[in-house]
Amino acid sequence: MTDNVSKIKDRLDVVEVIGSYMKLQKAGINFKGRCPFHNEKTPSFFVTPERQIWHCFGCAKGGDMFEFVKEIEGVEFPEAMKILAARAGVELEAFRPADPYVKDAKTRLFEICELSTKFFEKQFQSPTGKHALKYMLDRGLTAETIREFRLGFAPNDWESLSTYLKKCGYEESELVDSGMAIRRPAEKQREGIYDRFRSRIMFPISDISGQVVGFTGRVFEVPGAQLDQSGQGMAKYVNSPQTLIYDKSRVLYGLSKAKLDIKKADQCVLVEGNMDALMSYQAGVRNVVASSGTALTPHHLRLLQRYTKNLGFCFDTDQAGAMATKRGIGLALAQQFNIRVVEINDRECKDPADFVKKYGAIWTDVVASAKPVIDYYFDKARASYNPTSAESKKSVLAAVAPFVKRLVSSVERSHWIAQLAALLRVPESAVTADIQTVKDDLDAYTREPDSPAPPAAVPAQEEKPDMMNEAVLSVVLKNPVLLKEQAEIPYELLNIQTAAIMRKMASHDGPFDFAKFVADFSGPEAMHLEFANLRSQELWNEFTDDDLKAEFRNLVSMLRRKAINARMASLQFDVKEAEAAVDKDRITRLVTEFNNLAQQLNTINKFQNGEEKTQKTG
Ligand SMILES: [Zn+2]
Repeated sequence: MTDNVSKIKDRLDVVEVIGSYMKLQKAGINFKGRCPFHNEKTPSFFVTPERQIWHCFGCAKGGDMFEFVKEIEGVEFPEAMKILAARAGVELEAFRPADPYVKDAKTRLFEICELSTKFFEKQFQSPTGKHALKYMLDRGLTAETIREFRLGFAPNDWESLSTYLKKCGYEESELVDSGMAIRRPAEKQREGIYDRFRSRIMFPISDISGQVVGFTGRVFEVPGAQLDQSGQGMAKYVNSPQTLIYDKSRVLYGLSKAKLDIKKADQCVLVEGNMDALMSYQAGVRNVVASSGTALTPHHLRLLQRYTKNLGFCFDTDQAGAMATKRGIGLALAQQFNIRVVEINDRECKDPADFVKKYGAIWTDVVASAKPVIDYYFDKARASYNPTSAESKKSVLAAVAPFVKRLVSSVERSHWIAQLAALLRVPESAVTADIQTVKDDLDAYTREPDSPAPPAAVPAQEEKPDMMNEAVLSVVLKNPVLLKEQAEIPYELLNIQTAAIMRKMASHDGPFDFAKFVADFSGPEAMHLEFANLRSQELWNEFTDDDLKAEFRNLVSMLRRKAINARMASLQFDVKEAEAAVDKDRITRLVTEFNNLAQQLNTINKFQNGEEKTQKTG
């Protein structure tokens, strides 16, 4: 495994790998670009060809090319390995067991799904398959889309796929486990299994890396043919059941193809049906996925979160679609997505597929003009508002209030309260009061039992590793002599990792060579050093030694202030506790310490201000 990693790293260049996903610009000895992992206007994402690593100074993410592929593709290490190995032309022996019969069960299920996909694709050339193909073309799909998404046809036959797969060497039990076949009930006279999908147009469903894991089958009635031999009505859509490799609550139709477009557009258009996704893709809106007839789950949304925080809902225009939209929006709000609603304003079109068939590429404009979720519900409520009915007033509030309530920005909130007050002709204070009491029908969804507790109000940025330590380390890397010149290095203020690295640097003799120095470290420590080194190259290039000295002192003051503030905060609690216990001695001791710290803080601040002054006047 490690051998493969170094083989891949030897053959590939981190700049080239990352450059194939995003725009990189040469900047001195390094490359920079706008970070794909957080929103930013000015680039703080850097790649160093010399060290073969990348690092974002904004969100603190970084690592080698494997880390990048994991992050941007949203995959785990083995997948990233496969992707990069394919790129590098490295064969991964480890993934091909010597004995084909000892492949694990999952691998065999993947193979069954792949063989089934090929089988269904081929059926389009059969006499009945041709009708099905023509039907899909009539619905507006192009032959190219059909090929690209590997659509196919399951013949109207009970055993054709099973027979084929058995011939390929798979057991009946495996066909049942893959969901492609169903075991005959015991009481029936015939034993064995039968095909799950019969006389259906087949949509293969892929996991994030593009491997087929299941299917959706849409019923296709061959003109004049006897359809269902069992005599039961045929469901319009049949999906693969849950299997070892397919969990419908965790797979979104089209995501493996759309993920890069989603990243690029920084938005994902969510539609209901597979046909909607395909037609949208064909019309040029490729950042699209379908929930594929199943209800959207928190898992689906967490999957999307890897690629974007912006969702555009475009569900069917019927009652059920409106309900599904509301439910999806509730779930998405709970995960802090920014939500827009894509509107189809044509009564003849019940979904995006209909719309694209009728209007073609105009679809891209419709998606681009999607409304923020509140505007959407406000406009809708206004359109059906009857000013003479109290009921109508209530329903306008009920439609909009849940969204206004959840707005974080008070400016936005007062904007909407003013809008509502103007529409309903009531004072703003009345709207404000009503918003708190109105029935909140999003509540049920935002607290899905399946979903974890909503993230705390702390923005994700705060959780990043201590960037201040990285900054301190980057300064001394630029000028290691600082470590010898400074009378005392406040190791106690640094985190353990940084302190250990700096102690080692301080005891280092002779000229400092970064490449040699970092070679003694491994794992997170080595990465911490690499990141600090990259930061030092990018940030302190123009700095003189005196500037660096000042920067170092400045950072140390900041660290010290942080430590003092933390201690003072905890002392306040202790003092309250001591007061409650009427422990006079303890109170005195604590207050003395508190005052000392306050004085220290004062000195630090004065010293810093004084420094700035001398610098300015000097
Ligand atoms: Zn970033």
